[in-house]
Amino acid sequence: MTVVRFAPSPTGFLHIGSARTALLNWLYARHTGGKFLLRIEDTDQARSDKKFLEEILEDMKWMGLDWDAEPVYQSSRFDVYRETAKSLLRQGKAYTEGDAIIFKVEKGREIEVNDIIHGKIVFNTDEIKDQVMIKSDGSPAYNYCCVVDDAYLKITHIIRGDDHISNTPKQILLYEALGVELPKFAHMPLMMGSDGAKLSKRHGAVAVEEYKKEGFLPEALTNYLLLLGWSPGEDREIISMEEAVKLFELEKMRDVQSRFDAQKLRWMNGEYIMKKNTKELLPLIKKQLLTEGIDFSEKKDEYIEKLIDMYKIRIKTLKEFVELTDQFFVDEYVMDEKGKRKYLDKEPNKQNISLFADRLERLDEFSHENIESLCRTLAEENNFKPADIIHPTRMAISGKTRGAGLFEMMELLGKEKVIERLRKTATG
Ligand code: GLU
Repeated sequence: MTVVRFAPSPTGFLHIGSARTALLNWLYARHTGGKFLLRIEDTDQARSDKKFLEEILEDMKWMGLDWDAEPVYQSSRFDVYRETAKSLLRQGKAYTEGDAIIFKVEKGREIEVNDIIHGKIVFNTDEIKDQVMIKSDGSPAYNYCCVVDDAYLKITHIIRGDDHISNTPKQILLYEALGVELPKFAHMPLMMGSDGAKLSKRHGAVAVEEYKKEGFLPEALTNYLLLLGWSPGEDREIISMEEAVKLFELEKMRDVQSRFDAQKLRWMNGEYIMKKNTKELLPLIKKQLLTEGIDFSEKKDEYIEKLIDMYKIRIKTLKEFVELTDQFFVDEYVMDEKGKRKYLDKEPNKQNISLFADRLERLDEFSHENIESLCRTLAEENNFKPADIIHPTRMAISGKTRGAGLFEMMELLGKEKVIERLRKTATG
């Protein structure tokens, strides 16, 4: 049975590169009907923080990456590391230096790794220094405890980033010394920034948490990460996790570095938002409104649902929904300066608005059809284009130059609010 693991260090947030590693391990486990385990690499107790661990686990759950057993914590296995190191010491495979225990690397050997993604890679042990197993402070070194634990967990495939390739021959030597069977290795080419340099904050958001806050859907993020280096074929870009579980093959991963393309991720997120029905989006939108500090307690679900129907084709993230619709929840919305100058700070637009308000006042049924025909009649009667009312009105009632259809917006806002805002703008 396939057994894979994800081994985060809880010394920081979950980076999208690590999230991709977790995702591909999970997919491989699910595809093969194997197990996906979690190992928490918290040997650096000064830098490890429970808060980071909680966030990493939360983010994984959010992405739908469930694990198959209680996580194993390295901090609880120091005795095992020490005992195992001592046995290598007794066998003459290691030596001490002060309180540290060091593994002797046999020189003049070639170590061959048949990497699933890269193919054959050969290392010479002349280039590898003796390896610290137990540091003088009693804590284990990464390459050493990683092997002890991967052997203990009976990991069959180690799927991780290319940045660990140089660790692999060191780890292989340790497997041999411990007399345990070697797992298979698959090193994934790293995900780079748009300029080809290592993906970092400089390129924009790198923490899963940030994407969550911006209102990306987990389905979109996993779909996007999945396609970096792997493809289901036929140029398909939208693929659900269920389908990916069926189709994913580690052997088909490309041996090329991919670039993180934030625009493409946004596009994909927009596709997923559009595909969701209004009822599914409602709780997500409410959560986003809360995150942005918008009070919607006075609004009925029906009202928010209408807004979702009007806006879901216009947004790429849930945060954009809030940015575009705040005027439906609060009266103190920001006026777009450029739009204001263009549409409101000149006559006859203010007069038009005032005229429009007068006529709307007399409208009995405040439906978008009625508002629209009134707007057209008014324009005709006064010899101006409907756009001369539409643009200034949109600015006045929303503070924005873009949004949903104006007449639907007006209907939803309601007669009283619309007239109040038009009058305020006309006289302001
Ligand atoms: N904690 C290591 C990392 O985050 C794990 C490396 C491995 O998968 O062996 O990079």
